[in-house]
Amino acid sequence: MIKRYSAQLTEGKISRFFSHAKYGKNRVCKCCRSRVLYKLGDRRYECSKCHFRFSLRTNTYLKQSRVSFDIWYELLWWFVYGFTANRTAKETQISQKLVHRCFTTVRKAIYEYEENTIKTVFGTVEIDETYVGPKFKNRRKKNREYYRKVNAVRRGRGAKTLLQPVFGFYQRNGTVYVEFISDAKKKTLQDIIKGRIVLQSNIYTDTWKSYKGLNKKGYHHQTIDHGKEEYVKVKKGKKVHINGIEGFWGYLKEQLLKHHGVSKTNLIYYVKEQEFRFNNRHLVTDDMVTKIIKILMNSTPPDV
Ligand SMILES: [Zn+2]
Repeated sequence: MIKRYSAQLTEGKISRFFSHAKYGKNRVCKCCRSRVLYKLGDRRYECSKCHFRFSLRTNTYLKQSRVSFDIWYELLWWFVYGFTANRTAKETQISQKLVHRCFTTVRKAIYEYEENTIKTVFGTVEIDETYVGPKFKNRRKKNREYYRKVNAVRRGRGAKTLLQPVFGFYQRNGTVYVEFISDAKKKTLQDIIKGRIVLQSNIYTDTWKSYKGLNKKGYHHQTIDHGKEEYVKVKKGKKVHINGIEGFWGYLKEQLLKHHGVSKTNLIYYVKEQEFRFNNRHLVTDDMVTKIIKILMNSTPPDV
């Protein structure tokens, strides 16, 4: 491995970052919170009360990873700086497969974190939907022929489309939240709105028909009609527009392009990664790395 970002740090110091992220200052048993632990020979600990044996990686996203903390730490910097796995592999001389695997783990952890962090929002909220995924002409020839045959290629919102529909909102000066949806129908969109946005909030959308009737449901709803070249209007002293969420869509699509060719199963992780980056845009790189280490060390992957 060629170290660029972790060159100054010893192995001991780096593993202390991970240890501190998990235990803080006091190491306790995650089962019974007991503080009395025996040190075992193999760097593991055993709880004096419940006899739970654990290591630093137990119940974390790194539990199945044999990759050293050294490598993890170096790779996290590359990840935070937004390098692709291929580029990172080339520059660090770590195998592509390994970098891919580590980056995927990070994305999955971030996805879980985002899902658990953003519950509901209140205030002034811009709402919109978009579509992500490769353009038709960039798909494999074999697939293009199949899509033509089944007549899946149609245009327009609401129509059956090959792209993945995404719902999103932006709370002014705050948080972006995105979610994959099966369609852009009224029920789908309004169910998410009801679940995620507190009543009495100011909601701004475009004139898409699925947003109709939100006023009656207890929101202060204003629309912007792009069809009439309308982009900002002032209502009761407030600027009504959806430039924030539309800006995020632009940013998201640009980021997805960079990775050219994200598989369908992984697309959601890339999208949530961008949501996370956007929501933590105020953090400097160092703090972002620390935050991701905390996420990796304090949550357990769902199935395995
Ligand atoms: Zn215990």
